[in-house]
Amino acid sequence: MQCQRCHGMMVTEGVWTQQGKVVMARCSSCGNLVDPLVMANRARSQASLALMLEREAQEEKLQESGTPVRQEVSARRRAA
Ligand SMILES: [Zn+2]
Repeated sequence: MQCQRCHGMMVTEGVWTQQGKVVMARCSSCGNLVDPLVMANRARSQASLALMLEREAQEEKLQESGTPVRQEVSARRRAA
C-alpha cells in the first residue's frame, strides 16, 4: 500500500478507539493515518463515479450522432 499524500510506504498498525481495536494504515514517511475501510469506500465511490461519467459520455455520443440524422430526415421531409 502506498501513501496517497507522499507515496511513501504504508504500514498497518492496530489502533485502539472507542469502537475497539481497528487496523489503520500509517505512512512511515509523513505519518499520514488512514482507515483502510475509508480507502476502500473511496476507491469504490471513485469507481462508480468513473462508470457514471463513462455512461454520460456514451449518452452524449448517442445524442451527437442522433441529432444530425434527425435533422437530415426532417429536411428531406420539408423538401418533399
Ligand atoms: Zn505519506
